[in-house]
Amino acid sequence: MGKNFIIGIDLGGTNTKIGLLDKCLNIKDRVVFSTKEFKTKNLLIEALCLNITCLLDKHGIKKSSVLGIGIGLPGPIDSARGIAHYFPNIPGWREVPLSGIIRRKTGISTLIDNDVNLIALAEFKKGAGIGAVNMLCLTLGTGVGAGIILGGRLYRGSSFSAGEVGHVPVNEFGPKCGCGSNGCLESYIGNQHILNLAQKSLKIKNLEELTVLARKGNKEALSIWHRVGRFLGIALSGVVNLLNPDLIVIGGGVSGAGSFIFGATRKVIKARAMSPAKTIAKIARAKLGDDAGIIGAALLLSENKC
Ligand SMILES: [Zn+2]
Repeated sequence: MGKNFIIGIDLGGTNTKIGLLDKCLNIKDRVVFSTKEFKTKNLLIEALCLNITCLLDKHGIKKSSVLGIGIGLPGPIDSARGIAHYFPNIPGWREVPLSGIIRRKTGISTLIDNDVNLIALAEFKKGAGIGAVNMLCLTLGTGVGAGIILGGRLYRGSSFSAGEVGHVPVNEFGPKCGCGSNGCLESYIGNQHILNLAQKSLKIKNLEELTVLARKGNKEALSIWHRVGRFLGIALSGVVNLLNPDLIVIGGGVSGAGSFIFGATRKVIKARAMSPAKTIAKIARAKLGDDAGIIGAALLLSENKC
């Protein structure tokens, strides 16, 4: 019997999604559970293995029919050796040889990578990035990260930590950042920063409400989103000059306000980046939404030639 199935996992600080995909990367079924429910590393690993087994049993799929397990993880990952260095938002993980552990427990070969890298890979192969050659894929949320595709291949950097665009400095004298630096992009366009700023002048509970206000034409809400767009544009002008990408894909929670953000971003890139790099760099919204992480994880196993 052929190996017709892949397990794609998107392990996040809040939720963990386990997808069952066919070898053409169509999602057949999925399980979602709260990552925080499992207080220790070992309990979380057990939950992963149990859910994988249950998902396969539910569909009557033998382990021998599974090509492999791909896992996207929220931190720096040595994807070559299958080691998770640490997760900034999940305590208790230090230098965990996760690929080997999952392989031993499930009997299925396992590959791991950084979650944002895998989202970039998914958008590049199956989403907004089809046809691009040099691409940056940003995710805007509590954190701001990016996956980089250069010459059609995922670029991971010399120690697997490329793409930390959220920690590109945009202001020498800016606020202290969690990474230890000052004035990082994330301190200006991360969800929490936007919300804190908005709540100084507007009665809102979350960023969806800020988007609703902007849609209604509220000047203050619009100006806050435009400010996000401008800071994003400053950082991306540097990226455009450095990498000369043909496409910048933007996804994540905040991208729902894209129509208010990206106009300002394009304007700043046009004003600040160099020619001809700024002319070719298109900005597009991510297409795969919440499924990108699962699809990207599965792409570690299969190149999707269906
Ligand atoms: Zn930082």
